[in-house]
Amino acid sequence: MTRGRNRGGNSRNSSKAPSQAILDLPVAKNEDVEVEIIGLTHEGEGVGRVEGYTLFIGGALPGERVRAKVLKVKKQYGYAKLIEVVVASPDRIAPPCEIYKQCGGCQLQHWSYEAQLDWKHQHVVDNLERIGKLKVGAAEGETSEGLNEEAGIVVHPTLGMNDPWRYRNKAQVPMGLAEEGGLIGGFYARNSHRIIDMDACLIQHDQNDDIVRRVKAIGRELGVTAYNEETGEGLLRHVVVRVGFRTGELMVVLVTNGAKLPLAEAWIEAIRAQVPGVESICQNINTKRTNVIFGDVTKTLWGRDVIYDYIGDVKFAISARSFYQVNPVQTEVLYGKTLEYAGLTGSETVIDAYCGIGTISLFLAQHAKRVYGVEIVPEAIEDARANAALNGISNAEFEVGAAEDVMPRWLEQGVSPDVVVVDPPRKGCDERLLETLLTMQPERIVYVSCNPATLARDLRLLEDGGYCVKEVQPVDMFPHTVHVESVALLVWDDTDR
Ligand code: SAH
Repeated sequence: MTRGRNRGGNSRNSSKAPSQAILDLPVAKNEDVEVEIIGLTHEGEGVGRVEGYTLFIGGALPGERVRAKVLKVKKQYGYAKLIEVVVASPDRIAPPCEIYKQCGGCQLQHWSYEAQLDWKHQHVVDNLERIGKLKVGAAEGETSEGLNEEAGIVVHPTLGMNDPWRYRNKAQVPMGLAEEGGLIGGFYARNSHRIIDMDACLIQHDQNDDIVRRVKAIGRELGVTAYNEETGEGLLRHVVVRVGFRTGELMVVLVTNGAKLPLAEAWIEAIRAQVPGVESICQNINTKRTNVIFGDVTKTLWGRDVIYDYIGDVKFAISARSFYQVNPVQTEVLYGKTLEYAGLTGSETVIDAYCGIGTISLFLAQHAKRVYGVEIVPEAIEDARANAALNGISNAEFEVGAAEDVMPRWLEQGVSPDVVVVDPPRKGCDERLLETLLTMQPERIVYVSCNPATLARDLRLLEDGGYCVKEVQPVDMFPHTVHVESVALLVWDDTDR
């Protein structure tokens, strides 16, 4: 172990950060240390401990002993760079993707899938306990007898994918110019805006990979220029491909810096010839100096302006810019759990807060009396209404607005839901919304969460208000990444009231 306490002398006293100089930290910048890794942060960095001091080390895994170079020290914690794995975790694997290190799109490919699923489960448990101060019971013996309050909340093992690869239905690939000239497209090198050419992304549907490859070749043949972020010049910014897993329908979108697409007919002809199954070829115009992918105007160059896909029995129309869950296989698992937790018999009134394009609303509408969806993005609500009509669903209505404003209004108007589903963004539910829930007192709340920390915070507030958190089911929507999605069931607890 090379770590020493020999920094007490000159180097420390001459440190530029006086606040650090007076702290007696067990490590110093540039020091070479050997560290035990005891956990993983929500960003996928290994958490190491040196005499109680925390070091974050990218690439290190729990259970490992690694050698690392300290890059930065703060009062409570520091960062170090992995130099060598001294004792490897038995779950460490060679990442199957060749560009894993450079890309940064996945963070956990060097860990076995089983270990990833276990970690996601434990991550939910830790957040519920530490942030929510909630009692978590054993996840074993998943019988309904296990779900009693004394035993604590049942957090089930993560529902993972049988085949956790090639699960994404949408590719959005930035285009650039190779040094030697010519169109390339792939991903931004970590912490930079330099585009690295890529032909295969292992979490992408292989058809999407194939189509992006072909479209790049067509672009090269037609001599299209790639957009240059620095100069604001060049035409082709992104190639976006969407595939309906169930229908096999394909959409190709060329995002261009300018309204004119030279050789449009040649583009269409070549794409149609080389992409069998293409139903829609669109151009989206984005002339802004921004890294937002889409501009406001989309033109249909050929075919339909939407493709169709199904979640369960519900058909969805997906346009170039529509929000649509990117992992359709696991979406069915997630919504299936949501439906199970909602416990619908056909006579219930349901609110779906943060409803997006109404995917959950329409999924539940078939089993409920009436569903109300609320969402802040107007285009998403237009999609939700169109999708309701597409499926002949007449017992779902949608309103644009902030859920925390609209729900109190519904309450005043006498809407009395039996079940409320919330599926908020990462920051969790607005407190006003949670307070409205406590006034509405639906029998069940189903909380779909993409962030265990805010889930835990919100569940605490609902528990304090009279709800009982029964069970939580983590679902792996994004294998090989650090994203952790889960569904929680809460029931109104009137035993002491
Ligand atoms: N339930 C949907 C989408 C969930 S994503 C699905 O499963 O597909 C979260 C959604 O909340 C986004 O569509 C976002 O636009 C919306 N949103 C964010 N803040 C909101 C607010 N204050 N009120 C209502 N919707 C909001």
